[in-house]
Amino acid sequence: MTSFAVYNPATEAVIAEVPNGTAADATAAVDAAAKAFPDWATTAPRARAEVLRKAYELIIAGTENLAALITAENGKSEADARAEVAYSAEFFRWFSEEAVRTDGEYGSSPAGGTRTIVTHQPVGIAALVTPWNFPAAMATRKIAPALAAGCTVVLKPASETPLTALAIADLLTAAGVPEGVVNVVTTDSPAEVVTTWLADDRVRKLSFTGSTRVGHTLLRQSADRVLNTSMELGGNAPFIVTADADLDSAVAGAMIAKFRNGGQACTAANRFFVHADVLDDFVARFGAAIDKLEVAPLISAKAVTGVSGLVDDAVADGARITNTGPVPADGWYYPATLLVDVEPGFRIVREEIFGPVAPIISWRDEQEMLAQVNDSEYGLAAYVYAGRLQDALRIAESIEAGMVGVNRGVVSDPAAPFGGFKQSGLGREGARDGLREFQETQFFSVDWT
Ligand code: NAD
Repeated sequence: MTSFAVYNPATEAVIAEVPNGTAADATAAVDAAAKAFPDWATTAPRARAEVLRKAYELIIAGTENLAALITAENGKSEADARAEVAYSAEFFRWFSEEAVRTDGEYGSSPAGGTRTIVTHQPVGIAALVTPWNFPAAMATRKIAPALAAGCTVVLKPASETPLTALAIADLLTAAGVPEGVVNVVTTDSPAEVVTTWLADDRVRKLSFTGSTRVGHTLLRQSADRVLNTSMELGGNAPFIVTADADLDSAVAGAMIAKFRNGGQACTAANRFFVHADVLDDFVARFGAAIDKLEVAPLISAKAVTGVSGLVDDAVADGARITNTGPVPADGWYYPATLLVDVEPGFRIVREEIFGPVAPIISWRDEQEMLAQVNDSEYGLAAYVYAGRLQDALRIAESIEAGMVGVNRGVVSDPAAPFGGFKQSGLGREGARDGLREFQETQFFSVDWT
């Protein structure tokens, strides 16, 4: 088999070569998943739960190794990498707890004469496709519920970050996951591998996390077999600050919502709507924090070009750069940047920036601001900072987004349903909902006469 190179974004150096999987490797992975499925699907829920719990413990115990691998191939800071490892381990803990909650329903038909028993079956072999921005968490957020439900999986990690996925597969084997239950195919020809899976009648599920653009393609391909799909796609999160918000807390939240992972998060604050009465104060405090902020590198040279193009267009349209943070000379860096005098129609407001740039829009009228907030094809995350909880919740309820941080700059929580409205996706990950994505609902209509 040929191989392809994995790079360190901070140094631009090649750090590993991994197997370059083809259509034949994709089919071999499904063969293995199909062979393992009958036993895994009928393994006692408690036994599956204990394997998942062991996986949680091994990931936590291996935090330093896994975090170092994430930093090496993704470029994020060591602190962000450790936080990702903790978050990714939590999916195994949460779904080890959910794996044994095998509830159903029992009811009588309104007309009498029948009883209805509702149960949940594993959906079957699941194809998982994940992005590079959270190479551990995006994989475990799918693997853990799939295994809890009794599914076997084939996983294609992003070509930029295959090492973390391979390391997680090794940890799962050590935790007692039987051979063939989790199969990783690394490749730099994603379409070849994924198309092979989508065309294979044995594959019953696609769970994809990535861009809305690729999501469109995979949904079209999935239509041919009416494949069960879960889609976690792009975002364009608004970050709203009202006139009476606690500005210290809003700036602290903005730093996390914008700059965690260098802005390369689907939940990253992409456009700030700050009330005109506190605009100057907010910009001064946020700018002072940005002046000191050293961000991690972006994933690639292409990503740097993309972000700098968005900023150049905004400046050409009349935006002003008020603050920038320091960056090293080498590596794929773009500085933390604050932009003011931004208008809602600018490209940087309408597109996913995926970099450390904060564009600020000023507002006075709440309804007008909410119309601008909802004028987007995306609806993943949003953030609201307000002095009174009732104002924050009124605004939150008016936002077309699956997740709203209320006086908080982070929404991710394995116990809560993660996902988006509109073109940000279909389905939810985490919570009880995440398990249901890997189950079919079945009912038995029982004669009672
Ligand atoms: P991407 O869509 O380019 O790639 C995602 C995955 O799809 C990768 O594994 C890639 O190799 C694969 N892929 C690419 N082209 C394909 C094709 N033609 N056929 C089959 N597979 C293909 O996204 P990315 O750049 O890796 O990640 C960034 C995007 O992911 C952003 O838009 C971000 O918002 C989104 N994202 C969403 C969530 C969420 O939960 N909603 C989480 C993280 C990232």
